[in-house]
Amino acid sequence: MEFTDIHPDRVQVLNDHDLQSDRSYVLYWMQQSQRAEWNHAFEAAIRLGRQLDKPVLVGFGLMDDYPEANIRHYTFMTEGLVELDEAFKKRDCKLVIKLGHPRAVIEALAKDAAAVVCDRGYLRHQEAWRSDLANSISCPLIQVESDLIIPVEAASNKREYAARTIRSQLQEKYRDYLEKPARLMPPKSSVYLNVTGEDIGSVPAFLEKLKLDDSVPVVSDQFKGGTSEAKRRFRNFLKNHLDQYNDDRNQPHEDHVSHMSPYLHFGQISPVWLIREIEENHSGKDAESYVEELLVRRELAANFCFYEKDYDRFSALPDWARTTLNEHKDDERKYRYTREEMENAETHDEYWNAAMQQMKKRGYLHNHMRMYWGKQILAWTNTPKYAYRTALYLNNKYFLDGRDCNSFANIGWLFGLHDRAWNEREVFGKVRIMTKSGLERKTDPDKFIDKVED
Ligand SMILES: Cc1cc2nc3c(=O)[nH]c(=O)nc-3n(C[C@H](O)[C@H](O)[C@H](O)COP(=O)(O)OP(=O)(O)OC[C@H]3O[C@@H](n4cnc5c(N)ncnc54)[C@H](O)[C@@H]3O)c2cc1C
Repeated sequence: MEFTDIHPDRVQVLNDHDLQSDRSYVLYWMQQSQRAEWNHAFEAAIRLGRQLDKPVLVGFGLMDDYPEANIRHYTFMTEGLVELDEAFKKRDCKLVIKLGHPRAVIEALAKDAAAVVCDRGYLRHQEAWRSDLANSISCPLIQVESDLIIPVEAASNKREYAARTIRSQLQEKYRDYLEKPARLMPPKSSVYLNVTGEDIGSVPAFLEKLKLDDSVPVVSDQFKGGTSEAKRRFRNFLKNHLDQYNDDRNQPHEDHVSHMSPYLHFGQISPVWLIREIEENHSGKDAESYVEELLVRRELAANFCFYEKDYDRFSALPDWARTTLNEHKDDERKYRYTREEMENAETHDEYWNAAMQQMKKRGYLHNHMRMYWGKQILAWTNTPKYAYRTALYLNNKYFLDGRDCNSFANIGWLFGLHDRAWNEREVFGKVRIMTKSGLERKTDPDKFIDKVED
């Protein structure tokens, strides 16, 4: 199936059913790409609607036990969903949000669909939901990648070792994937179809309908979800911070970073839009550094989760890293903390405690402090495997951008993934260390503490 202004590498047909032309609509199953603009999957659904002369309905299934998600994540996501009703209406499409398992919700809506178009995700459950749906419906299921710049198989056909092994391929190819699909309208509106869903209204009141883990406080005062907020933040970043990105983005007490990761995680902003905004208006080392992070680092993480089915297990680390960590697993630790002591930010290290507090209070932490935070967990726990599980648990519980391919790749990085062997040391073996004195030399952690206390 081809759409003239959508790159063919983005499109995959997941079953071999015939189009059901006698049915009422084309259904876009929105799951990963939670936005109404720069959404190649939604645009593909519109093109299909035009080919078949059908309206396009947008369906979203909201379950209350999404893997590892708590009320902090749900609030951010729902703030984004609220604005989509109106945004899809402007494209003559109705958004139907139904409570229930996404696969079951979409399966029911698909009974009246000529075809279903879905977006794409790389985590185990996201892949399983799509392949299960492909088998359980009687019309075609067409998957369209819209959350990576280069679709994962087109970027590389194997699990890559490190950024250096994938960088040149990504840099050579990415301009071919910055296409902007025209903003077409479907031939008929779906707004008046007799299909009903939830009316969100007030986010906190709406979320009370769900049984959510509410042990982690909401951080809407720090990060409000939604495409319009993502764009506002990004434009502010371009205006006030991009010119310091290359030199100062590693300074945790400064704010010369884009804060796009929560919005990217929930698909509220398109990485293609971000790159185009940067490249159409800026050039030079700052723009290049940003492209390095958004393209190379982020797509390396997707490569890892796609080609490594055990992406969330210690066993997925490179052999050299597991071997060296196991050889040093009985080394004497100068400090040892339980998971609870760490979660309560009760260690001897004031910088680390400030990082942990910021995760808890803000749902976000600067990259340099994430590296320092995670490396100390390896230094202070009984075994590397336990350290791995603890770091992943805290990461995914508190970060708004947690539970992402980036989470699994970067927690893996703490333990040697996508890195090389260094000089051998106690506890870490040949895995890269980060020390308190190094943090003090390269950054100003006292100012970071002031920032957290503010
Ligand atoms: C221990 C550890 C845990 C991490 N956990 C997560 C996580 O759960 N979710 C998450 O999205 N990122 C994670 N990262 C990567 C990185 O810290 C964040 O993506 C970044 O800090 C987000 O802030 P920003 O959007 O302001 O980044 P910017 O510097 O503005 O970068 C722009 C975008 O580039 C991408 N990017 C930047 N750095 C990385 C990186 N190292 N790896 C992959 N992509 C990157 C992100 O999508 C980011 O939004 C982790 C890093 C470490 C060291």
